[in-house]
Amino acid sequence: MLNVPSQAFPAPGSQQRAASGGRSKVPLKQGRSLMDWIRLTKSGKDLTGLKGRLIEVTEEELTKHNKKDDCWVCIRGLVYNVSPYMEYHPGGEDELMRAAGSDGTDLFDQVHRWVNYESMLKECLVGRMAVKPVAVAKENHAKKLLNGILLKSRVPDLPAKEIPPSYDWFQTESLVTIVIYTKQKDMDSESVIIDCQDGCFRAEIIIKNYSYLLHTELSHEIQEDIAVRVAEKTGKIEIVLKKKDNVSWTYLGHPLENHNSFTAHRETGLYYRKCQLISKVDVTHDTKLYCLMLPPGTHLQVPIGQHVYLKQTVAGTEIVKPYTPVLETLHSYIQETLHSHNKYIYVMIKIYHTGVFTPNFDCLQIGDYVSLSSPEGNFKRSQLQELEELFLLAAGTGFTPMVKILAYALTNITSLRKVKLMFFNKTEGDILWRNQLEQLADKERRFEVEFILSNPTCEWTGKQGKISLPLLSEFVKRNLEDSRILICICGPAPFTEQGIRLLKDLNFSQEEVHSFTAY
Ligand code: FAD
Ligand code: NAP
Repeated sequence: MLNVPSQAFPAPGSQQRAASGGRSKVPLKQGRSLMDWIRLTKSGKDLTGLKGRLIEVTEEELTKHNKKDDCWVCIRGLVYNVSPYMEYHPGGEDELMRAAGSDGTDLFDQVHRWVNYESMLKECLVGRMAVKPVAVAKENHAKKLLNGILLKSRVPDLPAKEIPPSYDWFQTESLVTIVIYTKQKDMDSESVIIDCQDGCFRAEIIIKNYSYLLHTELSHEIQEDIAVRVAEKTGKIEIVLKKKDNVSWTYLGHPLENHNSFTAHRETGLYYRKCQLISKVDVTHDTKLYCLMLPPGTHLQVPIGQHVYLKQTVAGTEIVKPYTPVLETLHSYIQETLHSHNKYIYVMIKIYHTGVFTPNFDCLQIGDYVSLSSPEGNFKRSQLQELEELFLLAAGTGFTPMVKILAYALTNITSLRKVKLMFFNKTEGDILWRNQLEQLADKERRFEVEFILSNPTCEWTGKQGKISLPLLSEFVKRNLEDSRILICICGPAPFTEQGIRLLKDLNFSQEEVHSFTAY
């Protein structure tokens, strides 16, 4: 079923050239796709050269392995022999060699934070870095009880401006309220991600580029529904838990990994929870809308313009791919606030029959589970504030980030005078939510949509072609010389890159153009 084509990869125009933070992917040789790599790792071949033995690696030893055919890299204390992987690396050998014989954790986090290297490289594991003897007094590792004030936040090197949050808790007969003082303005409930399962309570508070984490094994059982209140002006967050039994708690819980820590967001691993597939509905011949239900103890809202990662195991290897949640429909955008989607996440996914992830994802049955990460992304709601004109340039599934942005802008941005969507597809049959978009344009005078087809039939009377200077100069025009505008662009990487170049030629500034990336 996972029959991967054998031409150079990624094929020209293949979606595998997806925009990835400005990094270019390199063409891989025949037989060097991700699926080929998975096959190699399952073949039983000794990929480390150590016949399955795991060793302790000293820094001195690590530095010796710095050549293409003998290349060891350390990621979070684990050392991998990445030489066998070189030809399969989508970023190319040179990028991998930047970390040769050294600790590549920072480099990895900059570009690959979401890639599940533990699973992808497990057959390349050489061993652990040897721990250097440390001459400082030993920390007391005894299990500490949490009364909210006992543990001091573990604070890494922070810019002076960032003050680590603190927390406290109190209780009534039936409730336990955890209070987090972020001391930040403009906090909202999207900044609070809670997962509570099997007695483990995990709350991640996103503060600019940092994450504050509370992670404890609660001292008593609680009920499933959790309430979150955020005081936007003071940054005080209250998380209300319902006790299962009306007894008095003497302490909140036992600390778990990274409890009460305040870490740069990039340094925290992605956290996944299992979501249940509730429905799948055809959108076009190859694209479906999937509804995923969050677990009962989870509070998570995906901010507009942000994506999540879905993770599933394909042929024994965990594969992770980014997807941008949409709304259930465009019709409902005025009645429903975006926040009414607290329990459900809708993803619109195109199935590539020769792809690695999507054919497997499409095989999920209603009721099956898939792992979903916390949200990520480089779009900020504030980019829409006081906007007068919004231009959306989408190609194929690059439409997905536009859905929530469009709905949010039309509903919340009072200064907005015009929203124009220019939607590029191959054929009429590929246009996602065409009827909904046309109906929205009919009823909402500020909204306009234009479909451009690269491969239309002769009946097509609309515009045709690909993204180009004439098309853009006609479509993306300021109404007033100094109007506040934003142009969002998303699609296959070459489409996005070309669009950005053309917009620059048309004298739009960097701040006026937003492209979506996976990092
Ligand atoms: P892949 O395995 O990546 O294959 C895709 C195509 O490349 C197939 O046609 C395949 O035949 C071809 N290919 C694979 N290997 C080779 C080879 N060796 N030689 C030649 N061709 C080859 N997609 C959506 O549908 N909806 C979204 O909301 C969405 N959001 C995204 C958000 C972000 C931030 C990003 C970066 C991407 C997003 N994507 C989205 C794309 C998505 O992440 C996946 O890339 C996509 O689903 C394809 O995954 P796949 O593993 O099924 O296909
Ligand atoms: P597609 O159907 O292959 O293409 C959509 C349109 O874009 C077609 O008209 C196509 O023309 C055109 N196009 C393709 N390559 C082009 C290029 N080099 N220059 C100009 N136009 C080009 O698209 P898709 O399969 O849905 O893929 C969507 C892409 O968007 C994927 O790569 C996905 O990763 C990306 N995406 C990114 C995000 C994000 O947030 N970063 C979110 C969602 C999707 P042709 O007929 O010539 O192919």
